[in-house]
Amino acid sequence: MSTTRLEPAMGEPTNTAATGIAPRSDRTDVGLADLEAAVRARVLRLFRGSFHLRHVDAGSCNGCEAELKMLTSPYYDLHRLGIFIATSPRHADGLLVTGPVTRAMRDPLLRTYEAMAEPRLVIAVGACACTGGIFADSPLVVGPLEAVLPVDVYIPGCPPSPLTLLHGLLLALDRVEGRTR
Ligand code: SF4
Repeated sequence: MSTTRLEPAMGEPTNTAATGIAPRSDRTDVGLADLEAAVRARVLRLFRGSFHLRHVDAGSCNGCEAELKMLTSPYYDLHRLGIFIATSPRHADGLLVTGPVTRAMRDPLLRTYEAMAEPRLVIAVGACACTGGIFADSPLVVGPLEAVLPVDVYIPGCPPSPLTLLHGLLLALDRVEGRTR
């Protein structure tokens, strides 16, 4: 089976001493160590080692939340990479949104976005946030996330796996770099 290796950006440190990420022998996910090193290096370079995300469930079935929760488990240990879930949008650099946007959640979602400071990245997590998914035709749904907010990164899957989520976060960090060039 072929694997995709994420190459570091030019001049980006990926070794253990520079990123603080030690490879763990109990991992079985192919490419996880490379992905973690790439994410950690960008968090160090772009956010001085501390990148905060606010999560809003805009109408999810909770399947996407279960996978997001896995990222903070001891196995994936997102905090080790310098990524944290913010308790307030005012402390967040990015917004993770799960589920389609229901009528009830449209305004709270907009208020959350307006409370955030730049770069306020917007990340659509899962098929429902990306396209409306299985709820697309519901009269209770306003639409996919892009009907309400400008989306930077779409992470597909129903639900996306933790590895896919991590890859999406890497793409989001690259968007920050693109904006500041
Ligand atoms: S993408 Fe799948 S798991 Fe996520 S909220 Fe929609 S139906 Fe649930």
